[in-house]
Amino acid sequence: MVLSSNETQQPEQKKQNPLVVVGLILIIVVCVAFMITRLMPKKYPRPIMNYVCENCDARFRAEYQTPPIKCPECEEKKAVRVIKYQCKKCKHIFERRIRSMDDEMAMGMLKCPKCGSDMLMHMPEVPAEEDK
Ligand SMILES: [Zn+2]
Ligand SMILES: [Zn+2]
Repeated sequence: MVLSSNETQQPEQKKQNPLVVVGLILIIVVCVAFMITRLMPKKYPRPIMNYVCENCDARFRAEYQTPPIKCPECEEKKAVRVIKYQCKKCKHIFERRIRSMDDEMAMGMLKCPKCGSDMLMHMPEVPAEEDK
């Protein structure tokens, strides 16, 4: 390659920009795909979460899954995850239902419905029973 200082402002350089953008998007897509596979460990057991069926109101525990999931009672795919929180500030305890991935994303911005504090802590799941 010969560099000539007088011809650095050629319009050809602009042609590269869309390619760079496409390349960046590809890299981001690959990174996201990689992270998603990393976030789904196959060998480790998934955490057990609480679920409630919005069809028959049955409560049960199941492995971590993206809701809605199938209810063992009525077999409808209407069970959503339930998480209990306690506000560290006013000690208010409230429950949050997660119906979709979007709800899950929104959990990070959750605030206490009583005092508006975001100092929340997870309440322990239903007291852990000994596995038989
Ligand atoms: Zn049900
Ligand atoms: Zn509060």
